[in-house]
Amino acid sequence: MLAGELALAGIDAAIVERRPDQELAGSRAGGLSSRTLEVLDQRGIVDRFLAEGQKAQVTGFAAIRLDISDFPTRHNYGLALRQKHIERILAEWVGELAVPIYRNRELSSFAQDKSGVTIELSDGTSLRAYYLVGCDGGRSLVRKAAGIEFPGWHATTSNILAEAQMTEEPPLGVHRTAQGIHAFGREKYEILDGKVVFASDGPLNIMVTEPNTEAATEPTLRDLSEALMAACGKDYGIHSPTWISRFTDVSRQAATYRSGRVLLAGDAAHVHSPVGGQGLNTGVQDAVNLGWKLAQVVKAISPEALLDTYHAERHPVAARVLRTTMAQVALQRTDDRTEALREIMSELFGMDTLRKRIAAEMSGLGIHYDLGGGHPLVGRRIPDLHLIVASGRVRMFELLHDAQPIFLNLGVPGRFDIEAWSDRVQLLDARYDGPWDLPELSSVTAPTAVLVRPDGYVAWVSEGTQDGLRDAMTIWFGTPA
Ligand SMILES: Cc1cc2nc3c(=O)[nH]c(=O)nc-3n(C[C@H](O)[C@H](O)[C@H](O)COP(=O)(O)OP(=O)(O)OC[C@H]3O[C@@H](n4cnc5c(N)ncnc54)[C@H](O)[C@@H]3O)c2cc1C
Repeated sequence: MLAGELALAGIDAAIVERRPDQELAGSRAGGLSSRTLEVLDQRGIVDRFLAEGQKAQVTGFAAIRLDISDFPTRHNYGLALRQKHIERILAEWVGELAVPIYRNRELSSFAQDKSGVTIELSDGTSLRAYYLVGCDGGRSLVRKAAGIEFPGWHATTSNILAEAQMTEEPPLGVHRTAQGIHAFGREKYEILDGKVVFASDGPLNIMVTEPNTEAATEPTLRDLSEALMAACGKDYGIHSPTWISRFTDVSRQAATYRSGRVLLAGDAAHVHSPVGGQGLNTGVQDAVNLGWKLAQVVKAISPEALLDTYHAERHPVAARVLRTTMAQVALQRTDDRTEALREIMSELFGMDTLRKRIAAEMSGLGIHYDLGGGHPLVGRRIPDLHLIVASGRVRMFELLHDAQPIFLNLGVPGRFDIEAWSDRVQLLDARYDGPWDLPELSSVTAPTAVLVRPDGYVAWVSEGTQDGLRDAMTIWFGTPA
């Protein structure tokens, strides 16, 4: 995602990837949240994902479903789509944007100096870049080599995941027992009336809670069999695994997202339990926050200080993700008292205000960067408004396809002068007569102008005056030409 964002901004970017090809062993993310779908819509590529996934009301909190079909967004649902497909589609997009991917080699070390970063690769070659972004996962070498602390919490639960065959048919679906949660499914499934219906044949996907969290080695078929015996009293004749992996609820976050010319994004910056399905989504949105800022700094449009807003905005978002996942892990426990608590939470989420509040958070639609400013839109996502402009009708997100900032004048044409930034910010006179509805807040006062950043977040709002406009333009899009 970051490579795509940089390429759209005209930056010469490259990816170094250890894996030899696009194949992804194991099962990881199961889908995309509403806000991630919006972000992909902002780049004009959401239809590629929608064509392969299944729309469903999958937003939830500790398996308590939160329906978002009444949220004011075109994507008022989640998309069930396995990570291997999400990664493949993104890689195809990045390929179209001609970003080179150096596959089958590892970044083995790097050294940064005043003017750039020298990156040593495992094949003995090196690369020189202005900046290096570690998107290298939870065990990030970039994070460790940059000396960035990764404080957090140890694991309290451990689970084995596998794809394998079984001689005896297990009960498909999710099961809660005193030993924890275990689940059996199949690679292929359909979502019908909100329920997952698995294919009748094909390899089985297995998830089982392990009796302890101490394992230090890669899980084996024997570990899997023992965990099944402990959870179900039998292992259903498990054999022929395609892959076996493990995940825990270890929760950690990088103390800083930037150390000089080295930045972190995705799991390299934050890891947590997969419950709630937030990891990949948070990473994609990190990239969209960072891409345009890094591009402006590389092009010397903005000072390096703009990069510090990446940490300032995205660190609190992931800190909240860690908080909600830790709370969900606690609520996933299967003892009677936790079950009682879960039932009460489920009743509370039946109340509209609470459902909207938590669903906005879990779907990413409620993200609010603290950018100051009085109007509630400042720091929030611009809704996908249906605008009338000189050339006809256009959706707001269509205007963001090139990842360029937009100044939307919704009042009298010619009122605002941003000529000094005209090489960077497009001024558009537009009409919008509809409501300004936000998922969590409902209606907000209609602004007369909005400054929209390339990531789709509102940087400045006019309620009739130009107060603060020059400052906002300078902070986000550099000194006037
Ligand atoms: C069981 C499970 C279920 C999940 N479900 C969800 C979900 O439903 N929704 C959700 O949003 N998230 C989910 N996640 C989380 C999601 O999988 C991760 O958040 C996501 O993969 C992180 O992406 P990333 O690119 O930051 O890191 P990774 O996916 O870990 O990618 C890092 C990449 O860097 C490469 N790499 C590492 N080191 C080097 C090196 N030195 N040199 C070169 N290349 C290197 C690796 O080969 C890898 O391709 C789940 C995770 C698990 C385990």
